[in-house]
Amino acid sequence: MLEVLHLSKIYKTKGGTDVKALDDVSLRFPEKGMVFLLGKSGSGKSTLLNVCGGLDDPSGGEIIVKGRSSKSFSQSDFDSYRNTFIGFIFQEYNILNEFSVEENIALALELQGKPKDKEAVAKLLADVDLTGYAKRKPNTLSGGQKQRIAIARALIKSPEIIMADEPTGALDSATGKQVFDTLKKLSRDKLVIVVSHDREFAEQYGDRVIELKDGKILSDVSKAQEGQTVLSEGVSAIGDTLCIKKGTKLSEKDFATIKEFLSTADGDVLIAGGEKDVKSFKEINRITDDGEREVFRDTDEKKIEKKAYKPEDSRFIRSKLPIRHAIRIGGSGLKTKPFRLVFTSLLCTIAFVLFGVLSTMTFYDSSATLRQTLKDAGPAFVRVEKTYKTVERQYVNGELDHEYESSSTASFHPDEVAAYKAKYGDGAFGALSVHTQLSAQTTSRYYQNTLSYLAALEDGHPLIDTAIPGSKYPATPNEIWLSSYMADVLINSTVYDADGNLVNAQTAADLLDKKFSVDGTPYTVTGVFDSGAID
Ligand code: ADP
Ligand code: MG
Repeated sequence: MLEVLHLSKIYKTKGGTDVKALDDVSLRFPEKGMVFLLGKSGSGKSTLLNVCGGLDDPSGGEIIVKGRSSKSFSQSDFDSYRNTFIGFIFQEYNILNEFSVEENIALALELQGKPKDKEAVAKLLADVDLTGYAKRKPNTLSGGQKQRIAIARALIKSPEIIMADEPTGALDSATGKQVFDTLKKLSRDKLVIVVSHDREFAEQYGDRVIELKDGKILSDVSKAQEGQTVLSEGVSAIGDTLCIKKGTKLSEKDFATIKEFLSTADGDVLIAGGEKDVKSFKEINRITDDGEREVFRDTDEKKIEKKAYKPEDSRFIRSKLPIRHAIRIGGSGLKTKPFRLVFTSLLCTIAFVLFGVLSTMTFYDSSATLRQTLKDAGPAFVRVEKTYKTVERQYVNGELDHEYESSSTASFHPDEVAAYKAKYGDGAFGALSVHTQLSAQTTSRYYQNTLSYLAALEDGHPLIDTAIPGSKYPATPNEIWLSSYMADVLINSTVYDADGNLVNAQTAADLLDKKFSVDGTPYTVTGVFDSGAID
């Protein structure tokens, strides 16, 4: 169902040099089985996977899905292709630690608009060999188990293809094995494409191993069974290996065969006996108990069945994301008022992770999806958040020891707000952002908690009527409206205005005309609208 022809991908770098990440790659994938994309770092594995999965556009060439060329795809076809056919698994599992295993999966079911009954959850857990783990919290699970929950989540939409980019990259080999075992099981009736740089795993689990180098296919081999040649009752040969069964009474003819074997061997000969040695030799050389050997031979793509597809087979399903649920679930932690501040950052985290989950599970182009969903759902207001990622690398003796990633919210530059306004009209961003930073410095640590909140209200939106008395609709980019929720946060925390004076607000009205500094730019509060209870 999936074929790629003459794919190329060129990345233009800032320095002006081009990086050819893919260079004329053509492949026909089988309907099912486990295919590994193997290669050193930078060889183009991720790029190939992303292009095959419609996460990234090729610079040249095409992908053919069920007989239909990507040349005829619109952007929404691409979105639907990903959404209909492909389940992605990434190195990071994007599991919500606040929820149990069952809740994580139920949430994902709900987000797909599927009934989140216990049976459905149990079925998915069984698919990934995690029956009995429903009530566990993710932080009590191994990395391999978390990754299998991520697989269960990808299975919700019954994808025909699973694509996994270094799914065991963060795991040790024992837990990595569990993940591969699960993927292998799924590959019995699905196509599973796995990116890995681990040749041993690739050869152990792969039905086909495609090795890349500098964006080109270096080799493409498929696993085959090499049969044994039975020489006599107890003696058989598999390739260059002679096997003598335990308890065999060797005849003169057998001895002649062995002698012939010894004298024609084109290298050292090792004669091993004993259960342990033979068992490990068989494992290493992939000799099964039936006396067959798994060998890799050049892939013959002509042998891969080319199914005839009807046009309706590639009519992709559009699926919609019930965003209301995401908002409701995101806010469910906000129950007790004195702790709102704490929960606000939790809310941000959950919302952030949730969108990470959503884009992983469903669509990559989350902004296009969100736009569509918001249009359909007609929410009261929309919050837009800008985040940036920080990577901290710790070196020990010049060697990279640890890498920590974190993301923080950032405020919008006035130019960005102006650009939004130009695009969406003056009404959008009528109520703008407030951004408070709470920080504390000790000798060894710097604590910082950033809240940012930005609401977009259409001009004439009914929410505007809910504003507290004295509110004046923002007239300049430096005037903002706060949501009542954000006002609550400010009332319940120690905050300073743009001039450094303590703002001791008791009510929302006390916040009117106050100036707050957002990354050095002062914003004057000219109104507070009612955003409703968030629980
Ligand atoms: P792999 O997954 O095998 O490590 P990638 O597919 O990520 O390799 O990258 C292939 C090549 O393309 C590398 O040289 C990499 O530096 C380059 N590359 C990947 N993504 C980008 C990008 N967004 N911009 C510029 N170069 C990129
Ligand atoms: Mg990669």
